[in-house]
This record gives sequence, structure tokens and C-alpha cells, in this order.
Amino acid sequence: MERILIIEDEEKLARFVELELSYEGYEVEKAHDGRDGLLLATTRPFDLILLDILLPSLNGIEVLRRIRKISAVPVILLTARDAVVDKVTGLDAGAEDYLTKPFAIEELLARIRVALRKKTNGSSVVSSNELIAGDLSLDPEARLVKVHSVVIDLTKREFDLLEYLLRNKNIVISRDTLLQEIWGYDFAGGTNAVDVYIRYLRAKIEEPYEINLIHTVRGVGYVLKDE
Ligand code: CA
Repeated sequence: MERILIIEDEEKLARFVELELSYEGYEVEKAHDGRDGLLLATTRPFDLILLDILLPSLNGIEVLRRIRKISAVPVILLTARDAVVDKVTGLDAGAEDYLTKPFAIEELLARIRVALRKKTNGSSVVSSNELIAGDLSLDPEARLVKVHSVVIDLTKREFDLLEYLLRNKNIVISRDTLLQEIWGYDFAGGTNAVDVYIRYLRAKIEEPYEINLIHTVRGVGYVLKDE
């Protein structure tokens, strides 16, 4: 189910849009000011964000700039003002689209479908070497890992381990093989480095996003599977 975040201080409007989107089958969360919205947008996975420009505590353009530092999630800006300057500033700051209030809900739904389709077909921004499993993607050249559209900060060792598991997706890899491949030398045995780093990876890429890609195979090692 595609997840949409509404950041809008007019609670009636936010509630109305929420009901319509839920009816269309989207999973919806709401925030009523800029700071709360930014916090949700940067800590939870969303497929699309509807962002009002005139917001208390932090305006929509600033929220958008900060989201763009860590995420390429499509953002549709909403504003009561039909001011050209807002539109230009918003698109410059990385908005996908722009809608002036009051809008017809059908128009909003259409714009959402277009933005989500572009995101899915976004071949221009997806590197051909990108490794993908479920909602996780890893770009070996850019050394970039994302869950949904959220960029995950990994250490070099964590990244190398994840890349190896992704390249061998659906294949069970023993701890010894992982030690040799990632740590590069033969451990005498008894080390739990692999288990420790698997725990780090799970804490960064799985637990916050409620996904489960890395599976433990008792007595053997690990396998990364598509969800
Ligand atoms: Ca507003």
C-alpha cells in the first residue's frame, strides 16, 4: 500500500484529503505544522508528501529543502496563494508538482497518480547497476543505500556486507564466507563479527521501516531475500 504524508495546518482540509486518500486505498499520516511534518518525513518511509507552503513553526519551502537533503520522495506543494514566486521557489527547491487551493479532489488524485508513476518509472535517476530487494536499493557506484526513498547512513563495513548479501540474493551465505569476503582474512573461528554487523544492519535498514530482508539460517549463516 502506498504511503502518503499530508503536512497541512488547516485541519479540516487535511482531514478531508485524508478521508479521500484512504478511500482510494492509500495509507495516510498527517502533520499540522512544519516541524512535526519534517520529523515524520525524515524518519518514516513515505511514497509521496503533500506539503502546504504556509505552515506554522517552519514554512513548507524550508521543510522541502530539508527533506531534499536526505530524500528524493515526490512532494506536491499546496498553497492558497496563486503567487508565481511560490511556484518557482517550490519547484527550485525540488517539488515534483504544485497545486493551488482551493483544488478539486479529482485533480489532486490525478496529480498524485502521475507523481507516483514517475517515481516508479524513474529510470533516469536509477543507476542500471542498482541492487534491489523489496523496498531496499543499493547503488554500488554512488555508495548509496535507500529504504523507500530514505537515504540510510552506513559505515563502510556495513555497506560492504549489505552489498555482498544483495549480490547473492536468495543464496544462503555461511558466516565463514562472509568473514573471508568482507573482512578479507581467515578468522580462526569463534568471532561474532558477522552477527554483530548483521545486527547493526537490521537496526538501520529493517527495524525502523518494519521490513525483513535478512534472514538467519540456524547453524549456517544468513540469506537476504526479497520480502
Ligand atoms: Ca496553511
